[in-house]
Amino acid sequence: MVDLKGQYNDIKDTINSSIQDVLENTAYINGPKVHEFQKNLETYLGVKHVIPCANGTDALQIAMMGLGLKPGDEVITANFTFAATVEVIALLNLTPVLVDVNEDDFNINIEAIKNAITPKTKAIVPVHLFGQSANMEAIMDIAKTHNLFVIEDNAQAIGANYTYKNGTKAKAGTIGHVGATSFFPSKNLGCYGDGGAIFTNNDDLAHTIRGIVNHGMYKRYHHDVVGVNSRLDSIQAAVLNTKLPKLDTYNKARQTAAKKYNKAFEGVDKITIPKIANGCKTICDACDCHVFHQYTLRVKGIDRDALVKHLNENEIPCGVYYPIPLHKQKAYVDSRYNDTDFAVTNQLAKEVISLPMHTELDNEQIAYITSTIINYINE
Ligand SMILES: *Cc1c(COP(=O)(O)O)cnc(C)c1O
Repeated sequence: MVDLKGQYNDIKDTINSSIQDVLENTAYINGPKVHEFQKNLETYLGVKHVIPCANGTDALQIAMMGLGLKPGDEVITANFTFAATVEVIALLNLTPVLVDVNEDDFNINIEAIKNAITPKTKAIVPVHLFGQSANMEAIMDIAKTHNLFVIEDNAQAIGANYTYKNGTKAKAGTIGHVGATSFFPSKNLGCYGDGGAIFTNNDDLAHTIRGIVNHGMYKRYHHDVVGVNSRLDSIQAAVLNTKLPKLDTYNKARQTAAKKYNKAFEGVDKITIPKIANGCKTICDACDCHVFHQYTLRVKGIDRDALVKHLNENEIPCGVYYPIPLHKQKAYVDSRYNDTDFAVTNQLAKEVISLPMHTELDNEQIAYITSTIINYINE
């Protein structure tokens, strides 16, 4: 699905020397590389504060802790997402409220959010799924009306721009009260282990969060709040510092691959190509509203699982994100949910298939993948 080796070979010398620097100066934890990366990411995202942490799941959890959410508070999020999002809500004894998504862009549905709001609702967690931002303008309007926090799960969309109706742009993850991301190796900006970060423009919240990630300490050995230990290590920061300046180029390579996939599947019956939402009508050269963490098709009128098997037999890796809606997962089953409220999520779980997507895909690989799929459908 991803070619981490090919990408590494391309930047090997700079990566190696930057890791070597860390080994030589032995500042393994909170060393200068971490600080440098924090500053570089703040500049790239145009956000006041980046707080690095150990992984994307922690980033979400710490964001919720920082906002002071309390057990019993209801937190609305998308049913169609990776479990980490709902996991941290449950872990903090908050009440997850899963809602349906849009069938075109796979992101959280605005009407479903509105219908789910109760007096106990305290926050909305939009997940910018597969590389494009949810409808943040509408979400921020709802949040304002109902006095809710917005926590953006930006694990899949780092570098994507969100375009407002008036044409202004902001980086996904920097629009809500707080954003969280992951640097898991296969993410668009991936390190060589685990890593994550929290973003916010709010000075007080940033201060609170900086203490939470470090055992609730604001002054050494003074523990003011219950915190956690969640750090980005210096070696991962060294890797990320080398890769961050290449992020736009990497995302561009993903967009180029997506364009080629789209072209090959144009007009193919039974296949729906990914839709670009949010002010960008097409995948254009200048715009970066969709950074294609995944290239996800919907197939209709053919057995998706048989297609997956056929591709695997032809040595084409593919993935199904996500095969089981969260409201059907044992850990998150709840009598509050009504299956008919999740028509789109249920449908997508049966129809989606994600194709190989990374920065090193060449024309030959794309031609092989697309022709194998098209031939199978036409058989
Ligand atoms: C990857 C991912 C996470 C979790 O990130 P980790 O670094 O693996 O903890 C959370 N949410 C979404 C949507 C993700 O894709």
